[in-house]
Formats: sequence, C-alpha cells, structure tokens
Amino acid sequence: MGILETVSKLNITEDSWNEAVEEHSILPDVFDGVTFYRVVKKVGHLNRGTVVTNAEVLFDFPRIARILQLENGIKLTFATPFYVEEKVDGYNVRIARVEGRVFAFTRGSYVCPFSTDRLIDFFNIDKFFDENPDLIVCGEIAGPENPYNKETPPYVIEDVRLFAFDIMTKGTDRQMPIEKRYRLFEKYNIPTVTRFGKYKVSDIKKLKQQIQDLNGNGCEGLVFKPTNPSERTVKYVTAGSCFRDMRATSHVMIEYQAEFFTHRMLRALFYLLEHNVPLDKAFLKEAGESLLKPLYESVKKAANGEMITEEFNVRFNKEESIKKLFEHFHNCKVDANLVSQKKVGRYWHVRFARRCFPSYEVIQKHWSGHSHFD
Ligand code: ATP
Repeated sequence: MGILETVSKLNITEDSWNEAVEEHSILPDVFDGVTFYRVVKKVGHLNRGTVVTNAEVLFDFPRIARILQLENGIKLTFATPFYVEEKVDGYNVRIARVEGRVFAFTRGSYVCPFSTDRLIDFFNIDKFFDENPDLIVCGEIAGPENPYNKETPPYVIEDVRLFAFDIMTKGTDRQMPIEKRYRLFEKYNIPTVTRFGKYKVSDIKKLKQQIQDLNGNGCEGLVFKPTNPSERTVKYVTAGSCFRDMRATSHVMIEYQAEFFTHRMLRALFYLLEHNVPLDKAFLKEAGESLLKPLYESVKKAANGEMITEEFNVRFNKEESIKKLFEHFHNCKVDANLVSQKKVGRYWHVRFARRCFPSYEVIQKHWSGHSHFD
C-alpha cells in the first residue's frame, strides 16, 4: 500500500495531501531507514502528533482536559463510575511496530532514539507486537535519567522506567476499553501507572485523601477515566507538582509563555483552598523560591558572561543510539553537547549539556545596559 491509499481511507485526497506536504503541515522524516510522515499542523482528521507510514496511521495521543477543583470537577464530569490512575510525571511515548521495527514516538511524532533504545528493558516487545501488530502501547517514561525533563516521580530514584496507561489501535483515534487494556497489560507483563481502581462520584472523600497522600509523597496527580464512553477523561494535579514544574523551568522563564506560570500558580491556590492548606510562610516560601531562585541563578550566570546550561545523564543499551539522540536534538533545534560517555556494566552512561542560549542572550543584553520598550 502507498501513502495516498493509506490516507484516502481517512478521506484525505491526493490534492489535499500534496498541499499539506507543500505547506509543511506534514513533514517527511526517516529513522533507521524507515520513512514516515509527521503531522505538525492539523490536516482533515489528522491532528498534530499523528504519524503516517506507507501502510498505516498512528493517531496522536488525545489531549486530556483538566479540572482545577477536584470535588466540583468530578461531580460535573461523571454520572457513572470511573477508573482512577496516578498521573506520572515524565514524557509521553506511543510504542508501535512499523515495518518490522519497534519505535517509541513522542507527542510531537518524532521517533525518540533514547526511548526506542531502552524499550527492550521495559517489556517483551517482540512477543507483544508479534501477537498484536496493530496495537500501540501508550505510556509515560519517567525517572531522573531522561533526556527531556528535570522532574521525576519520587519512587524512581535512578535511570528511567515505563509506566503504560493506554492502548490504541492503528488507523483509529479511539482507545481500547479500559478493562481490556488492563488485561493486556497483565497478560504481557507491561509495567503500568499505579491503578487505584473504580470509584463513584460519592467516593469524593476517598479521592481527596488519595490526592493529599500523593501531594505529601511528591507525586504529580490523578487521571480519571470514564467507564461510560460518552463521559470524558480528566486530570487533576497536586499543589506540589505545580511548584516543581515552576522550579524546573523558571531558570529559562524568558523562553516560556507567561500562562505556563500563571496556570500553575492558580492551580496551586485552588488546591490550597479546596484542601484547607493554610497560606502560611512555608507555602509562600515554596512558591516564591520555585519562581525566583532558579531565575536568580540564571541572571547571576549570564551577567557574569557564563552560559546558562542544563545537565542531563542518560543510559543507553547501544552506543550507536547516542549519536542518534544528538541527530534528533539537531532536528528539533535543541542545542546540546556531549560531555562524556562511558560503559558501566551493561549500559552506556552519557552526560550531556543543553545550552539555553535564548535566555542567556536576553539577560546579557539587559545586563549590558541595552534599553528596550516593555
Ligand atoms: P494535554 O496535551 O493533555 O493538554 P500536556 O501535554 O499539557 O497535556 P499534561 O498536563 O502532563 O500534559 O497531561 C497529559 C499527559 O499526562 C498525557 O499526555 C500523558 O503523557 C501523561 N500521563 C501520565 N499519567 C497518565 C495516566 N495515568 N493516564 C493518561 N495520561 C497520563
């Protein structure tokens, strides 16, 4: 089957496909000799994040609506029972077999060379995809040694782990019914997010306790998944996760949209009011430090002419994957340099630094006295 035949099944004509490619809404890409197309701007039914290969379409992972007030949000969203899972803080991957190879695709529809290299550590991918070639395992890769995020679930103290939470089928944007999904995770020993089971709206007291425990343990939050397909999945996060997000990013605040921080401050205050947390010195200190301390360090560095950088440690199975990660960074315009690589036991331990040039440049300019209108 060719690309045009594949997309014609989704009512995309040859003309509209060619136009989308010409306008760069769809970009060709190749990984390890396998060619595919990345949807970077919505085209027909294809959302950003969709992957199109010669024979198949891997739809994007659907966005999840957020509630800011747990009790009211649950009451407004659900009339029937729903499943509750931990929301794990990492990065999203869709794992699928394409032309005989198993890849981990990111939210932005790139193949992630790091995650792809590490898939064999997570579950028996050969057995799973031999028996289920049309399925896509969706999950979060999380842990302190990942190439993207500085945050980690408190219980992953080294390296990374996979936490699966969904299964999709190629060619459709629907997710597999939740009970069936859980059965497959168990059958193939696929590690999952913590599943808290089935709840009813009247269990709200238990849910509040659940989220307060997660907040106390340094976890991100919960995802609520309906049993009734006409109801929607929603997510809710802890105040602590809002502060950790701010602390992990405020050193490069200049590169973020202001809403990133506004939303987190609002979420944290909603949490505080709903869960009767006092607006005391500890809360204000945490908020202030998360916002200002990393930024202060950046200003100090740039004012001294020192580059703002982020350091990462990651582990690889194959040495050749290291080069592929840097090619991937190059494609995504991430300015990263290898610091060191050495084989320790079965893994290649790699250290690299990301240069945060845009933040450095802006701070430098202000510090050296350039005037500007704001
Ligand atoms: P969105 O695209 O949904 O607006 P986002 O990119 O802003 O999300 P988040 O706010 O972190 O990201 O929330 C959604 C993400 O949470 C999902 O894409 C998924 O990667 C992650 N996640 C973690 N745990 C779960 C879970 N148990 N179920 C579903 N998604 C989960």
